[in-house]
Amino acid sequence: MGDIYRIDSHKLMYHPERVAQWSNAGNDWEKLKKVYPIYVEISPYGGCNHRCTFCALDYMGYEKIGQEEKALKAALGEMAEGGVRSVMFAGEGEPLLFTPLASVIEHCASIGIDTSITTNFVPCNTKSIETFVRHCSWVKVSLNAGTPESYAAIHQTKEDDFHRVIENLRYAVRLKREYGYTCTLGAQMLLLPENRDSAVTLAKLCADIGLDYLVIKPYSQHLFSETHAYEQINYDDYMDLEAELAACNTASFNVVFRANTMRKYTEKQHGYKKCLSTPFFWGYIASNGDVYGCSAYLGQEKFCYGNINETGFKSIWEGEKRRQSYEYVQNELDINGCRVNCRMDEVNRYLWRLQNPNAHDNFI
Ligand code: SF4
Repeated sequence: MGDIYRIDSHKLMYHPERVAQWSNAGNDWEKLKKVYPIYVEISPYGGCNHRCTFCALDYMGYEKIGQEEKALKAALGEMAEGGVRSVMFAGEGEPLLFTPLASVIEHCASIGIDTSITTNFVPCNTKSIETFVRHCSWVKVSLNAGTPESYAAIHQTKEDDFHRVIENLRYAVRLKREYGYTCTLGAQMLLLPENRDSAVTLAKLCADIGLDYLVIKPYSQHLFSETHAYEQINYDDYMDLEAELAACNTASFNVVFRANTMRKYTEKQHGYKKCLSTPFFWGYIASNGDVYGCSAYLGQEKFCYGNINETGFKSIWEGEKRRQSYEYVQNELDINGCRVNCRMDEVNRYLWRLQNPNAHDNFI
């Protein structure tokens, strides 16, 4: 089956109308401001029960602040009207620590927004797991080792949490099978020197639990992270793992080894000269309600368009601060200072190619 969800690539070409809306708008801001994101990441809560050694957002401080439920639901309503199709709950902290999350996810289902969660899957119970599996398109669990000891060391938590996550995942799989839910259940391991030796153990465990996939992805140094412990990892030394992990694949389980992204991390090259995805095809709402165009620049005024606790999402998205940010990204931002392999890297490569076609592109 391979990477059927295109995790190691992008999916913007499956939204040709949105791309055409952006492309046809040219430089006309009155038209461009109406281009809403396909996908938005939302951080429901700033605090976290773990302190993973590689955490890119350590600089945000794990502040125990949460979204205002009423304002968030109102923003989601305006986002749906504008054309937002999906939301991932993840962010600066652990999303499941936000008590009203199940209710927010039910709200998204009622207004036609697809939802997903990236979580450590520790702070949940049978009731919340049922809501997530029933309504979400996918749940991806950050599970960064195959043994309780290395898990506890990397997540900087107790070994018990490892057993709890496995138990919660088994329960989620049982629910999915019993009620025929379509939620894709996966896990993700960020490949580090400390967990390399337990990657195959983890893959076998995930297959045994009944998960749909396990992603093995590379580290990427965030611009503002306090940690630089893994900045110099050379993934050329890890490529032999791909074949070993592929042997764990079954008819219903796949390891998605992000070799493409690993190679790009080693090359440290952008395949484009300007960021074309920001501020259009994605967005980010921080746990304090601030709306950003790019999650690599959280806390940076130039990428912040307003706050949903003060202003409606439509006014923010079509407002002056986003226009100024657009001008900045187009005319001043040096992408060589951007995070290598940022979330929009593949999308940017695609959009850049659309704007700079190859001489043979008409020979379809
Ligand atoms: S980090 Fe990526 S998405 Fe963000 S501004 Fe830079 S190139 Fe664009």
